[in-house]
Amino acid sequence: MKIHEYQAKELFRQYGVACPDGYPAFTLPEAMDAARKLPGPIYVVKAQIHAGGRGLGGGVKVCKSLAEVEERSRQILGMQLKTHQTGPDGQKVRRLYIESGVDIRRELYLGMLLDRDRGEIVVMASTEGGMSIEDVAHNTPEKIFKVWIDPRVGVQGFQCRQIAFALGLEGKAVNAFTKLLTSLYRLYIDKDCSLVEVNPLVVTGDNSVVALDGKVNFDDNGLFRQADILALRDLDEEDAREIEASKFDLNYVQLDGNVGCLVNGAGLAMATMDILKHYGSEPANFLDVGGSATAEKVTAAFKIILSDARVHAIFVNIFGGIMKCDTIATGIVTAARDVGLDRPLVVRLEGTNVDLGRQILADSGLPIISGANMKDGAQKAVEAAKKYAASLATVA
Ligand code: ADP
Ligand code: MG
Repeated sequence: MKIHEYQAKELFRQYGVACPDGYPAFTLPEAMDAARKLPGPIYVVKAQIHAGGRGLGGGVKVCKSLAEVEERSRQILGMQLKTHQTGPDGQKVRRLYIESGVDIRRELYLGMLLDRDRGEIVVMASTEGGMSIEDVAHNTPEKIFKVWIDPRVGVQGFQCRQIAFALGLEGKAVNAFTKLLTSLYRLYIDKDCSLVEVNPLVVTGDNSVVALDGKVNFDDNGLFRQADILALRDLDEEDAREIEASKFDLNYVQLDGNVGCLVNGAGLAMATMDILKHYGSEPANFLDVGGSATAEKVTAAFKIILSDARVHAIFVNIFGGIMKCDTIATGIVTAARDVGLDRPLVVRLEGTNVDLGRQILADSGLPIISGANMKDGAQKAVEAAKKYAASLATVA
């Protein structure tokens, strides 16, 4: 789960991490109230969306007066903000964060996430912070300094100093950084985070160290014990189909291809996406209905796939082990009757109760294309999607 910058900074403050003063605003009058509470004369108006790169996309503006705050807030609130992380449609800005302007001397990068290979938390730091850290990581990876934290002992003072020196910090900034990193690590552990990132972490004119941006992601598996974090969820920022899928405990990820996939097991779901690509299509989604799916769950999954207008064909690829083929077949038939099956459907079933499953599909009278095996099913799905797209083109 992701949260907004202003929510991340609220957590930072609770943990004693220094950040500039600021207030969230949902409307223009609220933005002005927020600005008046700040000392001025420099303010920053920041779009709050769950994507980075806001600065380059025009969603972060430094203002030198209250009048300018008003003008910028009016521009940014409600805009469709496009960044390299939002996709081509951008994301609508519904919230602002009005913050005090900071006298920036240097912009650094600091990030913390799980290194699964080592089973440790890796802290990444760079002197090249700011708006294009992705380029730094790509072009000059040696400029990213890494330290691994053993979760059994937590972050150590010497590790904080190692990073502080690598970042070229001096004087009081070294101790300030040690306190900041120790606090961020505590936040990471306490709140079941999967990522804590501060970009930029700035050194100010008076040699203070301040978090100027904040990105915090959480491990969804820990949310059951993080009620205060779950309360920060902003559904406006999430994909509508993924929200619907999460209600039914389906592992669904929206993609932008044209073949909808309904598969059981994450491994088979990945292999299905690969084989569709191999035969020249792109998957419209990743969907693993799980091993213990009920007919209701399959029905919900099928409806979610059909609600995506970009889907030109559906490929159901099931290997029934724990999951029974008749359950899948019942779900498909129910969903197809409920919403009307208006696009080609290719089904490949194998495993437990496969004959019963095939019988249910055959008795349904639905125009189902049967795949003899995974390869045959994938080829037929790709072909059906192409045909369907062509028929749309003719109608238009
Ligand atoms: P994003 O990473 O989404 O582009 P940031 O919060 O990092 O958004 O802001 C982008 C840039 O705007 C920062 O690198 C910094 O140069 C500037 N900036 C952000 N907040 C402030 C602030 N409070 N004072 C001065 N400059 C700021
Ligand atoms: Mg940033």
